[in-house]
Amino acid sequence: MKGMNHYRRILEQALGRKLKGPFWHAHHIDGDRTHNVAENLWELVEPIHVEIDRGILDEPKNGGKFPRPSDPNSKEDGFLNKEVIMDLEKDFEEGKENKDQPFELSNSYKRMNEGVFGRLLKKKIINLKDYEAIKAKKAKIYKAGQQMNKKQPRELIEA
Ligand SMILES: [Zn+2]
Repeated sequence: MKGMNHYRRILEQALGRKLKGPFWHAHHIDGDRTHNVAENLWELVEPIHVEIDRGILDEPKNGGKFPRPSDPNSKEDGFLNKEVIMDLEKDFEEGKENKDQPFELSNSYKRMNEGVFGRLLKKKIINLKDYEAIKAKKAKIYKAGQQMNKKQPRELIEA
């Protein structure tokens, strides 16, 4: 094992820049921490990453409901693929315009039915109870963003 810095570096090389700061992680889309190729790595801010790797969004082997896709570019419903990650990120986007609010929070968890999880509910891949659990997670991610806006100086994010 070459450790975390190894795959951070692979992702940074692919992005052509450093990760956005110390609170950004590299997530392995297929769940295999030894599969360190750029297409399998995704830059994620810590509060989202934490929620992805535990609870209902975790892998079935850990008690969650969302298996990792074996193909990092999979678009198959029911897997924690890039589309799901992007949906979660909507709640916690990088603020580009507002220098006092490093994170621009979109409140999209309140319109979750319009996103991926609404579709999964309609297709009965998740049930209403799962849907509500994910909505609570998205609200938690949103609140973490608000907290980070209060605490975290923008310079740290750009470090
Ligand atoms: Zn991860």
